Amino acid sequence: MSSLEYVQSYVRQAAQRLNIPDRIVRLLVNPDRTVKVEVAFERDNGEVETLTGYRVQHNNARGPFKGGLRYHPTVDENEVVALAALMTWKTAIVNVPFGGGKGGIAFDPDQYSPAEVERATRKFISRIREFIGPYTDIPAPDVNTNPQVMAWVMDEYSKYYGFQPAVVTGKPVELHGSEGRLDATGRGLLYVLRAYLEKVGGDLTGQRVAIQGFGNVGSFTALRFYEAGARVVAVSDVSGGLYRADGLPVPRLIDWVQKHRLLKGCPEGDPITNERLLTLECDILVPAALGNVLTKDNAADVRARIVLEGANAPTTAEADVILQRRGVTVIPDILANAGGVTVSYFEWTQNLQQFRWPTARVHAELESVMRQALQDVWTMAERLKCDLRMAAYALAVGRVARATALRGLQ
Ligand code: GLU
Repeated sequence: MSSLEYVQSYVRQAAQRLNIPDRIVRLLVNPDRTVKVEVAFERDNGEVETLTGYRVQHNNARGPFKGGLRYHPTVDENEVVALAALMTWKTAIVNVPFGGGKGGIAFDPDQYSPAEVERATRKFISRIREFIGPYTDIPAPDVNTNPQVMAWVMDEYSKYYGFQPAVVTGKPVELHGSEGRLDATGRGLLYVLRAYLEKVGGDLTGQRVAIQGFGNVGSFTALRFYEAGARVVAVSDVSGGLYRADGLPVPRLIDWVQKHRLLKGCPEGDPITNERLLTLECDILVPAALGNVLTKDNAADVRARIVLEGANAPTTAEADVILQRRGVTVIPDILANAGGVTVSYFEWTQNLQQFRWPTARVHAELESVMRQALQDVWTMAERLKCDLRMAAYALAVGRVARATALRGLQ
């Protein structure tokens, strides 16, 4: 099954549990619009490169489409549709007034110079400009995109439509970005986990955490967990990982990556592979890189008690069943990693109001949103007597279905 198929199947199951009529369910499964464009630009050597870009708008019953732009060779229509759908459910769970969208370009930006990535970004935005906008569809960072890329998005869009900072979120703080957006996903993971541990009578101090991924999500998750008193025993990136039983010195790893780009060669721990990290003896496993890493082949070997999904769709449906059967709690992506889009919402409101929030306000409001989301999912799980993923889908699908019904189908 592809990510799209299992997301759609979770939606159908959730709708069935809530008795949502089929005429509404059909609207929630397929995307509203899929835009596919050619992204042609000049390479530094004068050759012309042509890449494929996508923007998928899944559902906007609750507000403008919202979701990131991913630059990765695996980007294709099917994957982007699945990721756009996840955004619809994620924005509903944290109850921010957005729908779901996602986009991206199928390429590895590391193989291109910064000037080439800028030209690709600008061409992509000029191709999709009629479909995005502060009140229609608002992109943001995702895998391999960052505040600089968002600055180019804002600048390119503004060439056609004038000053429009609210067309994109995750911008640099110096250019209409929000305080607290950069680490928002990692911080949100911490807030959700804390709220969950309070429910089950646990505490983060001394817990052994393994984190796959050391990009924007993984590195800030590691840092926030380290500062919160957890023992970060393993981290990894595309170059491999590091392990240390008594806990890695996360700030030193971040310094290393700032200098050397990748974890490879860092002397602060023993080398460990990405595959091995997933089955390490630990308390909390945070897959925070790409999708489909927990599969039917390794789910039985996961030793963590809690899987906290930092990435989107890291667990296949087959793996999910195995983890559930083994009593592993999965805090699902659409709840766990929603801190990013939550602070994107704060950034968007600040842009529209031309007002700046201090950092402390961003953190406090993020914490209150994430706690409420955990509480709402928890209540739903008790009501339906189901796992947290099914409860999260039920909460989200119920909210989007109600908005759809209220707006009417005409
Ligand atoms: N790409 C992030 C996600 O998957 C953030 C999206 C946003 O901020 O709009 O949730």
